Amino acid sequence: MFTFNPLGYASRSVTLGRRQFLGAAAAAVAVLPASRLWADASSAGAIPDSLDAVGASGQPVTLTASDIKDLRASLRGPLLLVRDQAYDQVRRVWNGAFDRHPALIARCTGAADVVQAVNFARTHALLSAVRGGGHSISGQSACDGGLMIDLALMKDIQLDSAHQTAKVQSGVLLGELDAKSQSVGLITPLGTASDTGIAGLTLGGGQGRLMRKFGLSCDNVRAFEIVTANGKLLKVSAEENPDLYWGLRGGGGNFGVVTNFEYQLHPLNHQVLAGVMMYPFSQARSILSALLDFAAHAPDELYLTGGPVSVAPTPNNTGPGAATPPGRYVAIEAVYSGDLSKGERILEPLAKFGKPVAGKITAKNYVDAQNGFTGASPPALPPGLGVYVKSGFVNTFSDNLLGEILRAFESGPEWLDSIGFGLCAGAVARIKPEATAYWNRAAQWDLLLAGVWSDHSQDQHNAAVLHDLWKVFEPFTQGYYVNTEPSADEQRLRATYGDNYPRLVQLKNKYDPTNLFHLNANIKPTAPA
Ligand code: FAD
Repeated sequence: MFTFNPLGYASRSVTLGRRQFLGAAAAAVAVLPASRLWADASSAGAIPDSLDAVGASGQPVTLTASDIKDLRASLRGPLLLVRDQAYDQVRRVWNGAFDRHPALIARCTGAADVVQAVNFARTHALLSAVRGGGHSISGQSACDGGLMIDLALMKDIQLDSAHQTAKVQSGVLLGELDAKSQSVGLITPLGTASDTGIAGLTLGGGQGRLMRKFGLSCDNVRAFEIVTANGKLLKVSAEENPDLYWGLRGGGGNFGVVTNFEYQLHPLNHQVLAGVMMYPFSQARSILSALLDFAAHAPDELYLTGGPVSVAPTPNNTGPGAATPPGRYVAIEAVYSGDLSKGERILEPLAKFGKPVAGKITAKNYVDAQNGFTGASPPALPPGLGVYVKSGFVNTFSDNLLGEILRAFESGPEWLDSIGFGLCAGAVARIKPEATAYWNRAAQWDLLLAGVWSDHSQDQHNAAVLHDLWKVFEPFTQGYYVNTEPSADEQRLRATYGDNYPRLVQLKNKYDPTNLFHLNANIKPTAPA
């Protein structure tokens, strides 16, 4: 299950001295040579005579004033160019390691705008990024010199309490949907940080505090609406376009721009038991071994994550770690969503794992449990920091793996935020791997290595360090969670999608044969482009 350090941003990288990594800033991801061209091409509100942009394969593309005027006229929402007032704010994504400058941002207000934007991207063979909530850890929802198809203005939620469904547009964030559905005692399982977008999260799977009880977010989608690469708006469900219905549940953003999700809701009209317990790092092995034993008998109502974490409270850290002295700890987060008195008994062993230095598990509303950790307002893990995450599914959690985690954490850099593992299985595993694109359903744990820093001159260096650090974990894992990183490594992607991979390639051939949508964990088409 997905978790960053549940205590929020470990600010070691802010407070401790840093090495300057010469050259990293110059090579920073955002700066392609051509960026100057589109960056200087227009003054506020004005349309330049021509705009040098970047194509889907990196080739230069020149857009004329009339191309841009036509696109602007065809959209109900704004089309932003670099000098437009809102441009700088809208282009930014959550992960500050990716400082990208699209040539154009189409701020879509509905499916009709998305059709126009996709048609424009295809016609001009433009590099295209799709932005839902902007939480892409790997920065894939922004691009340099291409078209950003921004869905953040699409915020409609239509709740149908009688049928226990919610039709939700793609710009909605988790906290917005949780709050609305909980206002009538209903819920759909989403992720753990309220400021994440429902769209990217759901398309890649959607792991969260209720997934062992109700399944992944994608398992709870009854229908989608999508604009595919040919500009067609399709309804997708078990009855209509069932091949896409299969692929959109775990296949990420590979097949088009989803404009609408219809979720199945479930009753949840009582409090949950939720909290984070922190223990001294010196007791890490015994506490985490106890957690692994305990997890073997966990009921589906119980969400559990654990692992070593770094803590140094910052003004932004409103999580339960805020009062904890800086240092390295072991954290365990538990959320029990069943009957409370039963839950108290089930959670009793946690208190015997060791002597916690902080934290407690208490009864609270589900929305508070969701907001209380990474999704707190202001978020404990604020946007703009540099973040790098690697993940992998673990089928059998061995002592060896635990030993490697503790060794890596101890010897890791000061900005290593956490090496967390979350319990999967439960309702996720009761769906057959071939029933949806999301394949790794037998996995017991999802392992996550996360680094967080504020010095952007270190972005590339830190990513490279963690990329290397991950190598020790690779042999213990099978496939990875596509919402954490794109993969240029086809082997890794094949391990992720297992026997579903060939079927996903067929779908890609059918719905996006030129790979217009490739800023994602990319399934490459084999059809001639
Ligand atoms: P965006 O950055 O907007 O989009 C990410 C990618 O999704 C895009 O590049 C595109 O490929 C695709 N995409 C987005 N919208 C659409 C669309 N409408 N149509 C087609 N493709 C689209 N994941 C979990 O499962 N559980 C968690 O608990 C969790 N916690 C997180 C906490 C934080 C702080 C962060 C930063 C991420 C977390 N994630 C979690 C990962 C998250 O699921 C992914 O980053 C996800 O992609 C975010 O969705 P988004 O819409 O906000 O992202």
